[in-house]
Amino acid sequence: MNRPFTLSDAPAKGCREAPVLKERGQREVFCGLTGIIWLHRKMQDAFFLVVGSRTCAHLLQSAAGVMIFAEPRFGTAILEEKDLAGLADAHDELDREVERLLARRPDIRRLFLVGSCPSEVIKLDLSRAAERLTRKYAPHVAVLNYSGSGIETTFTQGEDACLESMVPVLPESPERQLLLVGALPDVVEDQALSLLSALGIETVRVLPSRRADAPLAVGEGTVFALTQPFLGETAAALERRGARRIDAPFPFGEEGTTLWLRAVAAEFGVSEERFEAVTAAPRARARLAVAAAAETLEGRSIFFFPDSQLEIPLARFLTRECGMRAIEIGAPYIHKGLVGPDLDLIEEGPLLSEGQDVDKQLDRARAARADLTVCGLGLANPLEAEGLATKWAIELVFTPVHFYEQAGDLAALFARPLRRREMLKALAPATGEAAG
Ligand code: SF4
Repeated sequence: MNRPFTLSDAPAKGCREAPVLKERGQREVFCGLTGIIWLHRKMQDAFFLVVGSRTCAHLLQSAAGVMIFAEPRFGTAILEEKDLAGLADAHDELDREVERLLARRPDIRRLFLVGSCPSEVIKLDLSRAAERLTRKYAPHVAVLNYSGSGIETTFTQGEDACLESMVPVLPESPERQLLLVGALPDVVEDQALSLLSALGIETVRVLPSRRADAPLAVGEGTVFALTQPFLGETAAALERRGARRIDAPFPFGEEGTTLWLRAVAAEFGVSEERFEAVTAAPRARARLAVAAAAETLEGRSIFFFPDSQLEIPLARFLTRECGMRAIEIGAPYIHKGLVGPDLDLIEEGPLLSEGQDVDKQLDRARAARADLTVCGLGLANPLEAEGLATKWAIELVFTPVHFYEQAGDLAALFARPLRRREMLKALAPATGEAAG
């Protein structure tokens, strides 16, 4: 297969064809509602109305760190016992809730009805509700729906489902354009747009757009580049609309960013000279910043529990740019079509696992005793208590980590728990106390 980027120092044998241990069992991950926390910050005129239980409301409030009276752009329409027992028409109640909300908040231009475990258990048809409410409130408000329930694979699937829900209602356009797909913090998105503009790529749009009135459209002239590896359903929806995906490693670290940009540059016929002129300085800065953190990471081992779906691109970054040794790379779901270029760059050796059977994986993590274990919040404290240094995977979606200027911060996120552990060991050698 021809790839539009060069891999001059790719390993002789990468992991793309390596056997994958498939596991199905108890999982320890957050549900897709979590994505609302970063999506509502990104989409400045959207509101996320979770149709769920008090548990869902608590999850959102504690994850977002705000109380509901702060008027955030998300909330929960709580299904009471009578709804769950089928004694009330949940659709009527939802309509009343939406009417109250939109009357109070005229700034809302996009309303997402977000399904949860309870709404799915009672088979509340939110797509019917979204169609009905769109008819009522268009053109000022578009009402869409997606599922954020814990019945799905993992928490990043919430973003995938949200973006996928927007694709069918995008206007059609034959225009030649690049679509960046993934909700990045504004500062990171601006950096990416500035690099692409310097490369001479004229029409670049972003999904999700910050505001509803952004000129976003899709069609056969659209090529798109994912910035997150967990957007498989969104990619498939865009392909159904005639768009074509650019295949590349994900833009983490200096190498990942360069290969991602190079793939985009090849698609748009950017000359090698221009590419070098635009990327040379930020590449050098990124290399320098990564090297500082890599002093701590060099030669250390790492074990990934399946959690964020970022595991494979991160393992590529940590093994190739920071000198770490991956023991196991677990991912909730391995979409080789998306992460294949990253797998090509990871030297054969680590165990690749897909899905989760948490007890078995804990046994392997305890046997491996890696220098650093990347896992969900629920596993981190118990593993710390057993003397393992951990990194919370969820931090990686709340922190700016993409592209050149964040490469050093990304490496530092992994170096920090190791440094803290060393400092604590030095301070209290007798107790062996440490923290993550
Ligand atoms: S959607 Fe399901 S897993 Fe998520 S908070 Fe609600 S009940 Fe819990």
